Amino acid sequence: MRNAPLQAMQLNLNLVEPEEEPPSRGPITLLSIVQTAPPTPLKTLAPESPPKRRSLRMNSRCRSFRNLFFPDATDEQWSDWHWQIQNRIRDLETVRRMIRLSHEEEKALELAGKMLPMAVTPHYMGLVSPMDPDQAIRRAVIPTVYEMRQCPGEAGDPLGEEHQSPVPGLVHRYPDRVLLLATDFCSTYCRYCTRSRVVGHGALTPDPERLQKIFEYIRKTPQIRDVLISGGDPLTMSDDRLEYILCNLRAIPHVEIIRIGTKIPAVLPQRVTPQLVKMLRKYHPLWMSLHFTHPDECCHETVKACGMLADAGIPLGSQTVLLKGINDDAETMTSLMHGMMKMRVKPYYLYQCDPIFGSEHFRTPVSKGIDIIRHMRGFTTGYAIPTYVIDAPGGGGKIPVGPDYVQGKNAAGDLHLTNYEGKSFQYPDYVAD
Ligand code: SF4
Repeated sequence: MRNAPLQAMQLNLNLVEPEEEPPSRGPITLLSIVQTAPPTPLKTLAPESPPKRRSLRMNSRCRSFRNLFFPDATDEQWSDWHWQIQNRIRDLETVRRMIRLSHEEEKALELAGKMLPMAVTPHYMGLVSPMDPDQAIRRAVIPTVYEMRQCPGEAGDPLGEEHQSPVPGLVHRYPDRVLLLATDFCSTYCRYCTRSRVVGHGALTPDPERLQKIFEYIRKTPQIRDVLISGGDPLTMSDDRLEYILCNLRAIPHVEIIRIGTKIPAVLPQRVTPQLVKMLRKYHPLWMSLHFTHPDECCHETVKACGMLADAGIPLGSQTVLLKGINDDAETMTSLMHGMMKMRVKPYYLYQCDPIFGSEHFRTPVSKGIDIIRHMRGFTTGYAIPTYVIDAPGGGGKIPVGPDYVQGKNAAGDLHLTNYEGKSFQYPDYVAD
């Protein structure tokens, strides 16, 4: 689709997923009955009542949640991403009906509006423990009063994105690539969001006038060969709006790669529809960075969504933030990385949590992240090991950190190395002149 002309977008609001169950082996015909069935009178094979409609395949936690709190929702509604967004859980009264709130959560929800808004899709709320305030998924999306505490070193924009923004909503930090903030809307707000200063406030919308200025900047800057569309969550936009952006970017000859950063497969897998993937596959090479936090997110619906994206030929990578009490141990992290690999998502980055305001209760020492990588490297496939990085405060970019396996070099030029088991080895690191 390189140099594709701008297309007139057709609005398609019929986004309900088709039948969720595997296809049957085909219709029963008279011939198949004759060939396979014992010689029973045909009239006894005739169904006495209409065949029952198979119910939607869902993970068991979400099914119980839906039965309890959305008993009137039909399968079609539950599978419709618009319905999921319209029925997001956003206020104290609704949350209180669904989970037993801790004092810290109750207080934070009373003060909602003074901080990052709260919103959780019914799907994701189904994965939240109603009783345990320390459960990983719950801590990721239900606010606590600790968000209101500001600690030394924290900032609203620790990565200095505002200073590296030549056009509103575009960050140009690295030489050959840019970050395009398409929208500030997310279906579910993560309490540790790096862009909590922006997201959910309604100030950054995908309006064509703003976007055209961004396209113009990219057009005039030939060194940009890679555009990451992020936000907010770009997959919360309609297919038409998203295609408008993709189409305009593809029309710029020097843009080689387009990437989309999203948490949709984890929080709103219903958004990944056949129509969406059909549209996306027109804009290859298109990559996706999927945000995952905990192995509990790898449920049936999410596996299916990732499968549809992978089947559309979209290479999937992951981004995970290291979070205290959520995923900061080697067992949980390894399980998450394995879960993603089974969904055909390549673990890409593990981020040290950025020091945004009110994030102290989420941050671990860097030594914890290094230790987790040390416990993974060698003990599982290299494909499952993400690159652990610190996004340098002030706009320095991602800096990889990790265990040091090189101990030094002797006079003869031998490199002293330590393997994953702590055993020492030497490598003759010299070449003849
Ligand atoms: S999905 Fe991404 S942009 Fe949205 S709240 Fe979570 S971390 Fe922030």
